[in-house]
Amino acid sequence: MKAAKRQKKPGKIFVISGPSGSGKTTLLSSLIQDKKIGKLLVKSCSVTTRPKRSKEREAKEYFFVTLLEFRRLLKAKKILEWTRYLGYYYGTPKGPLEKQLKSSKSVGLCLDLKGARILKKIYPHNTVTIFVLPPSLSVLKERIQNRCRQTNPQEVKQRMLLAGRELRAAGKFDYCVLNQNLTVALKELKNIFLRESSV
Ligand code: 5GP
Repeated sequence: MKAAKRQKKPGKIFVISGPSGSGKTTLLSSLIQDKKIGKLLVKSCSVTTRPKRSKEREAKEYFFVTLLEFRRLLKAKKILEWTRYLGYYYGTPKGPLEKQLKSSKSVGLCLDLKGARILKKIYPHNTVTIFVLPPSLSVLKERIQNRCRQTNPQEVKQRMLLAGRELRAAGKFDYCVLNQNLTVALKELKNIFLRESSV
């Protein structure tokens, strides 16, 4: 008799949130660069109407689209969840995420509070939410200032205001990781991933 086919375990969703400048994107990219974890986890690439920053690459950090294209994707139901952040739209493409989960790969996403809440609602059993805390507000401001140097100076103020609101929601997440030292924070994130994936 043929051996029963082993059912593939669906992948998990790791949503990383935190204020702009908390280091969530760097942490997720570093996590995926780990040899063992890189085979099990892929990063979701969002679409955004925000202008590209100088170091950003198309289809790596984001798919940069026009507002018209974003609306077309929404209408075609190709966006799983979306948000408006400081006047720009950001959304998670639905197809790639579903494909990865079916193939048993886990997916890592850097989303705002709304995105984390919605993904937990859509996939309550396999979504793990992680909040990244900056070491201090002054370090956060410095990082945001560096990031927004070429853009609108008003943006620093707006991102700092939003950061206050985001920090107050940290307690609603499954895990909080303090990013004071990147190596330590990454180790903690790795432990969370391995524990939750039961690898
Ligand atoms: P930034 O402009 O700093 O790249 O992103 C602004 C905020 O939007 C960040 O908190 C980032 O995590 C969040 N974000 C990026 N892509 C998405 C997305 O597809 N959905 C949601 N809900 N938030 C996103």
